Amino acid sequence: MDAGVMFARMESDSENELISSIAPDVMTSLGRCSYFEKLDELLSPEDNSTSVEKCDGSFRLSETILTAAGFDRVELDDIFAVLHFKGGCCDCEVLYNVAEKSRLKANYWRGRAGEQVARTPHTPHSRPN
Ligand SMILES: [Zn+2]
Repeated sequence: MDAGVMFARMESDSENELISSIAPDVMTSLGRCSYFEKLDELLSPEDNSTSVEKCDGSFRLSETILTAAGFDRVELDDIFAVLHFKGGCCDCEVLYNVAEKSRLKANYWRGRAGEQVARTPHTPHSRPN
């Protein structure tokens, strides 16, 4: 069977158990190399003169950042499995669903709040684990 297909379809309990067992350490490693900040900087740069990268529905930008940070192919597969597990299925979803906070998410909500300046969006803070 094709390895790619196998990876996409692999959702057995033992796989989920493995992912949730490595998830905290993977998240710590990602935080340590400023992955979320770097991704945020690409998708939602603070400086408007920098060109904005667009998410194309893949982990293209994440791959560039993480490869530069020294992670190898096998580690990348684990990292993306963890991100998937946490609801991030592409570069922008990582910032929306996995990162604690990001400019991309903040700007999105600022836009949503729009005319209703008085109303701050209420987002639940309960997180699994
Ligand atoms: Zn995306």
